[in-house]
Amino acid sequence: MTGWVQGEVREIRRWTERLFSLRIDAEVEPFRAGQYNRLRLWIDGEWVARPYSYVNAPDVRPLEFYLVTVPGGPLTNRLVQLNPGDCVELMPRASGLFTLDHVPEARDLWLVSTGTGLGPFLSILRSQACWQRFEQVRLVHGVRHATDLNYRDTLLELAREHAGRFRYLPIVSREETPDALQGRITEALVDGRLERAAGREIAAESTQVMLCGNPEMVRDSQALLRARGLERCRRGHAGQITVENYW
Ligand SMILES: Cc1cc2nc3c(=O)[nH]c(=O)nc-3n(C[C@H](O)[C@H](O)[C@H](O)COP(=O)(O)OP(=O)(O)OC[C@H]3O[C@@H](n4cnc5c(N)ncnc54)[C@H](O)[C@@H]3O)c2cc1C
Repeated sequence: MTGWVQGEVREIRRWTERLFSLRIDAEVEPFRAGQYNRLRLWIDGEWVARPYSYVNAPDVRPLEFYLVTVPGGPLTNRLVQLNPGDCVELMPRASGLFTLDHVPEARDLWLVSTGTGLGPFLSILRSQACWQRFEQVRLVHGVRHATDLNYRDTLLELAREHAGRFRYLPIVSREETPDALQGRITEALVDGRLERAAGREIAAESTQVMLCGNPEMVRDSQALLRARGLERCRRGHAGQITVENYW
């Protein structure tokens, strides 16, 4: 299949002034949890397209994406204005290697995200493979403000469904929040707070780590993990770190 397909916005959920989720009906090919599609709109005389990770599990419809409006960003400032019934175009086929298919076997899986980098992990956490392959799963979500901790109901439901095997670890950098760590992900990795809260240690022998979102977090977390003996997964080399940078 080539070209673009027409999608229709079914719902737009505005979580905060900048964060929103789009639910879209579109005929697209099957995808793997963790992959992304592209959304495009005709803006000021040209097509503008950007990649967005699927939030919905592969077998669930409508398609769902979790976005942030970037100041001055051409596409996000238009996407946030969409209403149910509006059209947006997508690629027929998903892309990306940020899936469990590319993560080697291990006892524990850590999913570490900032901001809308949470998106692909929601899809992964809703896939069966995640729970068939890993004994313990930890989801770290770093944000600036407590109001940016969205999809809480989904995460609490997952925690109930997988009681004893899953912990959700929110971390808020700019304010103190009950039930969340304070600071940056990298700080909490260095001083051991993240692992204490997780009730689990990150170790090359037992842990696979997926990192998604802000490239600075991805780079710095990777450096810290590498100093502890974990290595980047590469084609033909089974390491422990798999990454997706959003910009
Ligand atoms: C594989 C992949 C998957 C992605 N999935 C998502 C997703 O699920 N949700 C999502 O919101 N974005 C996602 N992005 C980023 C997205 O593709 C766009 O870059 C972003 O929406 C901005 O588009 P724009 O046209 O408004 O601004 P642009 O002009 O494209 O971007 C302007 C600047 O905004 C900053 N920026 C870009 N994305 C973000 C972000 N997510 N959070 C904070 N700052 C950002 C960067 O500094 C960038 O240079 C993904 C990117 C990649 C590469």
